Amino acid sequence: MTKQQLLENIANLRIWQKGDKRAPHKPLLLLMALSRLQQNKQRLALFSEIEKPLTELLIEFGPQRKSHHPEEPFHRLPKDGIWELANDQGVVTTEGKKFTKTILRKEAIKGGFTPEIYKLIQSNKKLVTQLASILLEAHFPQTIHQDIADAVGLDSDISNQEQTTQQKKRKRDPAFRGKILQAYNHRCAICGFDVRLGNTPIALEAAHIKWHQAGGPDTEQNGLALCSLHHKLLDRGALAISEEFKVIISEKANGYIGFQEWLLDFEGKELRVPQREVYMPDIGFMEWHVREVFQGESLYGT
Ligand SMILES: [Zn+2]
Repeated sequence: MTKQQLLENIANLRIWQKGDKRAPHKPLLLLMALSRLQQNKQRLALFSEIEKPLTELLIEFGPQRKSHHPEEPFHRLPKDGIWELANDQGVVTTEGKKFTKTILRKEAIKGGFTPEIYKLIQSNKKLVTQLASILLEAHFPQTIHQDIADAVGLDSDISNQEQTTQQKKRKRDPAFRGKILQAYNHRCAICGFDVRLGNTPIALEAAHIKWHQAGGPDTEQNGLALCSLHHKLLDRGALAISEEFKVIISEKANGYIGFQEWLLDFEGKELRVPQREVYMPDIGFMEWHVREVFQGESLYGT
């Protein structure tokens, strides 16, 4: 496999799909594997070694689910042609086999990049950052890229990476930020923050309610003007918007300094509405965000 093929392979991973549900399992496992490689750890890791940290990543950066399945990406990745499973006897074929957590643990199954891919990345360490940035860009909003890189232990500045592959991705509307800020009169829709430097709004951003990575459109009905802090809190699922356009706060959120003023005080408060009625957020996008991102109980009954 060439470098270019690997980049494209990673950009076009086969991801489990059901409607517009998020499945960050493969990207998170691959990011962990890239971090291991960067730290010169062994190519293959036991499932029992990966299970706990991957579950923690799924809880922190994945949607709220009743149970978590770190075993799924671990035994499904071989089909993407970059990963293999092995035990003490050698490579384990996955064809037609069912792997549960118990089997993976009991049989001491290891997983990791294939030797070919491992060598390819090792001989060109820049690839670690490139691959990590492709994975993050394709599956998570930019506000949380560095959080994820830090959580998996990747030592790299993953921002501002050029896209070097033909990723199957939709182009973003470059006018999105401008039209969202305009729609909300250049104020945070939650706290009203509107600091400017001269004429330029500072730390004011256009947030997607349904992530661009999940097919959310670049329209006013899917956008909110938010200060950097409330944008991040929205993307991490610490807060969400109810169908009555009120702010709801995750019960997992806590803290002393700033928690009351920047988060809790807004609980139940109405969103500052956009300038025109037609720009009101769409219930469908808000419902997606509550179901797939918000770290709390869904008020939408899904
Ligand atoms: Zn704000």
